[in-house]
Amino acid sequence: MKQIKFTGSLKHNELEALYEIGRAVAETVEINIALEKIIKLTRAVFIFDNIVLYNINNNGDLEAGFARAIGRGRAYEGDLAWGEMAAKYVIETGDNFVQNSEVDPDKDRLEQQFFLGLPMIVGGKITGSLLFIRFGGPSFTEAQINFSELLATHFSQLYNREKLVSKVAELEAERRLNRLQADFLAMVSHDLNTPLGFIKGYTTTLLRSDTDWDRGTQNEFLTIIDDETDRLSELIENLLDSSRLQSHKFQIKLNNHHLDKIGSSQVERLKFLYPELDINIVIKNHNIPVLVDSKRISQVIDNIINNASKYAPNSKILVTISMIGDEAQISIQDSGPGIEKDHLEKIFKRFYRIPGKRAGVRGSGLGLFICEQIIKSHRGKLLVESEVGRGTNFIIKLPVVKEEVEKRNV
Ligand code: ADP
Repeated sequence: MKQIKFTGSLKHNELEALYEIGRAVAETVEINIALEKIIKLTRAVFIFDNIVLYNINNNGDLEAGFARAIGRGRAYEGDLAWGEMAAKYVIETGDNFVQNSEVDPDKDRLEQQFFLGLPMIVGGKITGSLLFIRFGGPSFTEAQINFSELLATHFSQLYNREKLVSKVAELEAERRLNRLQADFLAMVSHDLNTPLGFIKGYTTTLLRSDTDWDRGTQNEFLTIIDDETDRLSELIENLLDSSRLQSHKFQIKLNNHHLDKIGSSQVERLKFLYPELDINIVIKNHNIPVLVDSKRISQVIDNIINNASKYAPNSKILVTISMIGDEAQISIQDSGPGIEKDHLEKIFKRFYRIPGKRAGVRGSGLGLFICEQIIKSHRGKLLVESEVGRGTNFIIKLPVVKEEVEKRNV
């Protein structure tokens, strides 16, 4: 192995290519696009068959970050020696590695490899090696080595910038995650604290030994405690569901059911619990066979009707259950204020609540996110249509169990 240091002058076309390469490094954001551009520009003024960029990875090992077979030996791309030994020498010594040989016309050119290896240096530190391979010559000249040294500084800059960009992206992602966690904790603590505050306040008041509360007041306070406890357990349940969904531990137990039965019994239950709800049900098809977790589907219906009662108070609610082709469908329509288009696509996002709307109404923005995930896990769809001033329609679509329908039609 011989170590050679040359000095030589560059030709006009080489200088021009270097200028264009410098521009590609500065202007191209995507590293692979920049590399392709540089290789194209280099090829116009410099002969080579293979080019390899070796980097030192985080474990200190040599890694071919980029490799191209361009000229001879292109077809042998996979088999050819990529000059790892030459790259190692460059990285260990910090010197160029040049190996020119005499060409033997009787030998296969692919077996006569000429190497040129150059260190890539960032901030005085060797970060990798740029390697050119020629099969069967010609030899690397002084001027070409000079040209390649300048090229190696461009490659170093490119990799250095790429490293900085990915470091910045990493830090940004970390910062965003921290922010998200802080927002989440603030939101959850506030939502958990509000009902807890009520429960604690009214319980302490009822327990005061210096006051005798009459039966009516006691009932009033106990009802508040009861409501707030429900609210607290609903919130905790939603938070748990949401975290199970995120960690893919959310379980659904599928069984054969009739969707109209699930829908009607849920509506009856809600009518009983909230007699003030103006809710009607229309069942267009009976015994619609579906393979579902009935508890989870009931949870979705419950959530959507609950939302209608919260965000479209005093409005009529119409639940329609039907079978359209091989799709079972439940639509829950209210005639409330509706939802503007901008918000419509966001309401299924985790923690999304329409800002400023019905500020007094409490919620966590988790309900519709969970509903959509439940329906998706049944291979169904949860859709929403809304017109401001006219109302909102949530549509649950689920696949019908075809064999059941076919059996029935025989
Ligand atoms: P939460 O009710 O806990 O805020 P949801 O995920 O169930 O969360 O709903 C997200 C948002 O969608 C609600 O905050 C509300 O602004 C809006 N929304 C849901 N249902 C309706 C409806 N029927 N009419 C108008 N707005 C609605």
